[in-house]
Amino acid sequence: MAATFPLPPGSTIGILGGGQLGRMLALAAARLGLDVVILTPDEGSPASRVSKATIVAAYDDPAALATLARAADVVTYEFENVPVRAVEALMALGVAVAPGPDALRVAQDRVEEKTFLNAANAPTVTFAQVDSAADIAAALPRLGLPALLKTRREGYDGKGQAWIRDATGVEAAFAAVGAAPSVLEARAAFRRELSIIAARGRDGEAAFYPLSENVHEGGVLRTTLAPAEVTPAVRREAERIARAVLGRLDYVGVMGIELFDLGEGGLLVNEIAPRVHNTGHWTQDGCEVDQFELHIRAVAGWPLGDTTPMVQVEMTNLLGDEASDWLTIAAEPNARLHLYGKGEPRPGRKMGHVNRVKSR
Ligand code: AMP
Repeated sequence: MAATFPLPPGSTIGILGGGQLGRMLALAAARLGLDVVILTPDEGSPASRVSKATIVAAYDDPAALATLARAADVVTYEFENVPVRAVEALMALGVAVAPGPDALRVAQDRVEEKTFLNAANAPTVTFAQVDSAADIAAALPRLGLPALLKTRREGYDGKGQAWIRDATGVEAAFAAVGAAPSVLEARAAFRRELSIIAARGRDGEAAFYPLSENVHEGGVLRTTLAPAEVTPAVRREAERIARAVLGRLDYVGVMGIELFDLGEGGLLVNEIAPRVHNTGHWTQDGCEVDQFELHIRAVAGWPLGDTTPMVQVEMTNLLGDEASDWLTIAAEPNARLHLYGKGEPRPGRKMGHVNRVKSR
């Protein structure tokens, strides 16, 4: 039977995906008296270890989706490569899914994403759709050099990307992304990278956290400082963009929007993530209501809650072996350690993060 919102405590949230984002969503749900059921293809996932139940199956397994639809009052997802057809199948079974399939569809394909953003009046770099090396050569005069080639689908953390520095590098770049359907992007001459974590409720109410400043290394997020030092104009522009994107998708839940700060108040959207976001982890120790609780509140139809920052926080990802410093970090003043319960510290794997309070 279709759920009525707000979902009362004791209701069940289904989550597609079992990674650290699902884990932190489950912990937030637990604080509000809500149960979580995870659907993930992986045994022993970080999220399943703190959830009421787990269904281990492929995301598009019909029997697994039927079980999840029976168990959950509403379903959400914690990563953007869940097949859209899985979400559509759940909806056909009568269970509400938030955010909806449109947000997933848009976020899964960099050409669709940029086309959507520009139509929503959210500026991006100039780009070209690429299906062959000839498409790259044809677009270079318009985009200029250097330009960045990215696969349209399933690239993340800087994977599936190749810079083109001169016209002789076209073939090699296309080969480097596996000759896959791609997008060619003009280089953004940004001063720094910012992001805004935004949310929209079932009633259309929007909420925004203050912007964060993010440092990436090798395409992977290293640190986030928030609230970032930004002018009121930059904050207004980021919120304008977020409001436009959320509204056009009739979005319910938290979204991460990565921005390039061009200076002089100019912002470009790099990408949107239809889920809680690594650059929002600082909110766990910096705000009244953190992004995980905000997302749960939004999908459950609750009031969104207070996004006011209480302190400035620097979040540092613990990648691979860095998590082995847990004992030292645990002894630091003004630091809070968040570990994901992952077994093997493979190089570059996100094992946890630490939030350090910078100023009160
Ligand atoms: P992405 O996987 O699209 O988030 O890109 C990973 C990182 O590469 C970004 O955080 C930027 O540091 C850099 N990057 C991505 N696109 C561009 C661009 N068009 N111009 C300059 N740098 C970029």
